[in-house]
Amino acid sequence: MPSFVITEKCDGCQGQDKTACMYICPHDLMALKEVVDKETNEVKMKGVNQEPVQCWECYNCVKICPQQAISIRCYADFAPLGGEVIPMLGSDSIMWTVKFRNGNLKRFKFPVRTVEAGNVDIRSGVGEASADISRIKDPGFYTHHANGSALPTPS
Ligand code: SF4
Ligand code: SF4
Repeated sequence: MPSFVITEKCDGCQGQDKTACMYICPHDLMALKEVVDKETNEVKMKGVNQEPVQCWECYNCVKICPQQAISIRCYADFAPLGGEVIPMLGSDSIMWTVKFRNGNLKRFKFPVRTVEAGNVDIRSGVGEASADISRIKDPGFYTHHANGSALPTPS
């Protein structure tokens, strides 16, 4: 199910050159386009998923949007239009809201991390030698096994 932008909620990331959804999309699908407001005829810049069929359905754009303006819509050929899935990312969990076509709502909340935000030990488990930042340009640094075994050499 690809993402789509609810234009009424999107503020174009307040005119920044690169919006949050453009920054995060791994497939470069999100773009800023001029959209005409049907009521006022005003032209505003809004985020759009320019090629939904190419969408990887990773939902990064959905999670990062500061306005919660991106939602998920089922393909019309296998699910009747009207169904919708809206994720809302919190600091330690994600809340999925599922809207059914008949108006029913279901919500599911799942934890998204096991360590409190800002407290991940990025060097955990790599060993003292690999954690020595002065060796940043050494071959094998950080991918080298923590026991210090020698890298293979060409014969
Ligand atoms: Fe609009 Fe959200 Fe994209 Fe910003 S991240 S342009 S608010 S859809
Ligand atoms: Fe890009 Fe993923 Fe959003 Fe699809 S769901 S538009 S691939 S960020």
